[in-house]
Amino acid sequence: MEQEQVRVCHVCAGEVAAHMEAWCNWCGNLYHLNSRADLPGEDCGQVWINEEHLALEFACNVCLAPPAEPGTLDDVLDLVEAAAAVGMTPVALEALVEAGQVRYRRTAGGVLLFRRGDLPGGVVQRG
Ligand SMILES: [Zn+2]
Ligand SMILES: [Zn+2]
Repeated sequence: MEQEQVRVCHVCAGEVAAHMEAWCNWCGNLYHLNSRADLPGEDCGQVWINEEHLALEFACNVCLAPPAEPGTLDDVLDLVEAAAAVGMTPVALEALVEAGQVRYRRTAGGVLLFRRGDLPGGVVQRG
């Protein structure tokens, strides 16, 4: 018995037309990616050029935005939240960042993010 070849998007579960096919580099699933500017189609993922390897990288929206697992996002704090969590002022925490004394991540937009576990435990500075 021959299997029907219905190509279904991993992200939105809709049928994927030939000009919309893309395979995610992370999960390997098919998703919508419009490769034709002259044809309509919504993207369910992205493609970009890896500047190191000069290769195209594909990722579906599921892998780009994994569903929040309980506890995971709660562990990521911005500067104000992180400062409150350790009893410091945001300015004092930022000074630690600039001194390289706390691990952090700065987003492309310039926002400082911290993981709860990386925060200086028990270090309470009061202005
Ligand atoms: Zn889709
Ligand atoms: Zn994926």
